[in-house]
Amino acid sequence: MKNNPPKFFRLLISVCLFFVGLLCSLAQDKNKTEHVILISCDGLRPDAVEFLGEKWAPNFYRIIKEGAHTHNARTDFNYTVTLPNHTCMLTGRGVVGESGHAWIENGTPKIGQMLHRNKKAYIASAFDVAHDHGLKTALFSSKEKFVLYDLSYNDRSGRPDTQGKDNGKDKLDHYHFNEKTEELIKTFTESLAKTPYDFSMLHLRDPDTAGHANGWDIQPKSVYISAVSKMDWIIGKFFDFIDTNEQMKGKTALIITADHGGRLETKTHTKSDEKLNYTIPFYVWGPDVSAGNELYKVNPSSRKDPEDKNIKYESEELQPIRNGDAGNLAMSMLGLPAIDGSTINSKQDLNVKAAQKAEEN
Ligand SMILES: [Zn+2]
Repeated sequence: MKNNPPKFFRLLISVCLFFVGLLCSLAQDKNKTEHVILISCDGLRPDAVEFLGEKWAPNFYRIIKEGAHTHNARTDFNYTVTLPNHTCMLTGRGVVGESGHAWIENGTPKIGQMLHRNKKAYIASAFDVAHDHGLKTALFSSKEKFVLYDLSYNDRSGRPDTQGKDNGKDKLDHYHFNEKTEELIKTFTESLAKTPYDFSMLHLRDPDTAGHANGWDIQPKSVYISAVSKMDWIIGKFFDFIDTNEQMKGKTALIITADHGGRLETKTHTKSDEKLNYTIPFYVWGPDVSAGNELYKVNPSSRKDPEDKNIKYESEELQPIRNGDAGNLAMSMLGLPAIDGSTINSKQDLNVKAAQKAEEN
């Protein structure tokens, strides 16, 4: 009988500790990310970043150190051109097949053309999911053809919002085009300072433009390498902006990838069975991303490093990390569900945290 009070207190302490632990883990699991910026560097090859190294690409290497990355991600299996791959990023679908988004064109669409009319079914995007949940969206592009997304997700072409409060059919709150990327990022950061968009996409054309003019030339001071170091400078500008903006500091994630690589000899990137065309980088940085992770290492049960291969969607092997993972990753970081109709990262299982977290899952 004498032992009862200490036993009772020990039990009480254990119960208290259990709940404190539970609360801590719940608090840790809640995403801190309130803003996701998806940056597409058109035609960026990962070996160009490695060629520059930490000294000449300090901002890419800041992401590698503070975030998660792979230099062996993949484009769509069948297409290694711009609009089809950006549509993969935004919709979480491949290009062809029953579940594909079906946009194979790469020219500037005409008025009246849009993703849904082409597919003869509504193609939902990350803009739909974010907007229907009451969040603000934007697209800042350096190629005119990205008007495809404004044509597909405006107040006439967007679908009705059946999710909670009606936020209307215009899924893309702001669309802006400027082919001069220095001006584009200035306009974008000024716009973010006024409206800190929850989900936004920035498209940067420079590596692709340099590659088409002079080839994807991995040599000191080549036009292509200079364009890649400009990408690094732009990412640095975003770090400066995020680090000094009270609304976005500590709450903003960056996802950076590319739509395709490219070749020196041909100055093109259209052949989809060419390793230099289908190999792209994928970087994630933000408050919910653990530092210094290689993405295949922290996703052993859901993704596999494809080495040199181009893996089909219907392969027996685990899928590689693709640019098409970006849309659903952005949604999961914002605490939102997967894009309806998506097939890439539709389980939102691309892990960007430390390895033991991956094993727990
Ligand atoms: Zn492109």
